Amino acid sequence: MIESVRYPSQCSGCGSETECVGVQALVGQRLEWDIGYHCPVCDDASYECGPGGSRIPDDLRRRLLAEHGEARLVLSDPLAGPAVVMKVLRAELGGELAEAKAALQQIRAGVFAGTMPEMTLLVHRLRTAGVKAAAERAEQCDEASAPC
Ligand SMILES: [Zn+2]
Repeated sequence: MIESVRYPSQCSGCGSETECVGVQALVGQRLEWDIGYHCPVCDDASYECGPGGSRIPDDLRRRLLAEHGEARLVLSDPLAGPAVVMKVLRAELGGELAEAKAALQQIRAGVFAGTMPEMTLLVHRLRTAGVKAAAERAEQCDEASAPC
């Protein structure tokens, strides 16, 4: 599971416009990210990456969501024990009980979303805990055609 986005950026060496590639990937059971570019003018290259489990930069995450749209986490089993789901959420999101509770409510309301690699990882975790879940690509709003 991998998502990537290309976007214009500026070379830190010579200031020319160059193209950056940002990636978020689910490798095994860990999320990784990297951002890199190679300047065609001065041959400068930059590469930045986050090892498994490190937090993705907000800017890259925003770009991925804008490019690919959000993925929603859906519990296929609506009767799944909330305690089990919340335990998985807490372990994964690293939050407090109240945050896990809020996340569970968002999932049930169908509004808990993130990048596809992030949701895919949560689905893995939930399935491992015995909860049936799926990641679905949310409907994308196409501004060119009809309003949502
Ligand atoms: Zn350059």
